[in-house]
Amino acid sequence: MKKSILKALQTTIQGSVFSQKEFRKFYSVDSSSYQIIPKAIVVPKNEKDVINTVKLAKKFKTSVTVRGAGTSLVGSALNNGIILDMKNFDSIRLAKNHVTIGPGTLKGKLDKKLEKQKKFFPPNPSIGSFCSLGGMLGNNSSGSRSLKYGSVIDNVTEITFVDGNGNKIILPENKRVSKKILEFAEIDLQRFPNVTKNSSGYRIDKVKSIIDAHKVVIGSEGNIRNYFISKAKD
Ligand SMILES: Cc1cc2nc3c(=O)[nH]c(=O)nc-3n(C[C@H](O)[C@H](O)[C@H](O)COP(=O)(O)OP(=O)(O)OC[C@H]3O[C@@H](n4cnc5c(N)ncnc54)[C@H](O)[C@@H]3O)c2cc1C
Repeated sequence: MKKSILKALQTTIQGSVFSQKEFRKFYSVDSSSYQIIPKAIVVPKNEKDVINTVKLAKKFKTSVTVRGAGTSLVGSALNNGIILDMKNFDSIRLAKNHVTIGPGTLKGKLDKKLEKQKKFFPPNPSIGSFCSLGGMLGNNSSGSRSLKYGSVIDNVTEITFVDGNGNKIILPENKRVSKKILEFAEIDLQRFPNVTKNSSGYRIDKVKSIIDAHKVVIGSEGNIRNYFISKAKD
């Protein structure tokens, strides 16, 4: 990685920035059989760090790939640019009918919290407690209960993310962006496969009204830079 971007990251990011060989090797693999050596790893401390990483990556023309727990089997958490490890974003806020979750939260931690209230988050991939909620959003995870309760896309009501320009966006709360997505989603549904599980890109087929705008990014495998908080249904 050019020294200038590394220096820029190191002077801007409040969290950690790693470029040592050992770190790059560690983040070069996930549960897939692929290996791609990244140039640097950023472990953001806060939202500002994520925004600044995206802005710097854009300025220096390099990629940003978010990593949750690295359990995906297709190498989707690997890349040769910057890897953004979301492990510090592991907050869980329980409300009566929903829970607000940081994307780095491991599913097992959420399960334990919900269990105490005799509740559960339906998507249940067989990797179990080890994956993160951000990765589950990226994959639109489903699992054993999906025929009854659907996949992640059917159980999330709001997403906060940072787009490729470093803008923080909350959907569907942001009406301007939501309206644009809705317009874009006027498509021929015949062209979409009629399947219960689909995580192959932007889910415009799931956007039926403005309150569905956030669904467009669920299953987009990190094409949208980040999810900070998501309100999961009760
Ligand atoms: C043994 C095994 C069994 C499995 N069984 C099932 C199953 O039954 N059903 C099912 O649906 N899936 C299954 N999976 C897949 C599982 O859903 C994913 O492995 C898991 O959800 C990925 O989570 P992760 O935190 O490890 O994400 P990672 O592997 O770290 O990342 C996965 C993708 O999400 C993106 N991502 C991660 N965090 C963010 C973020 N904050 N913002 C934006 N993008 C992000 C990454 O960039 C990447 O594209 C299984 C996997 C394994 C290994």
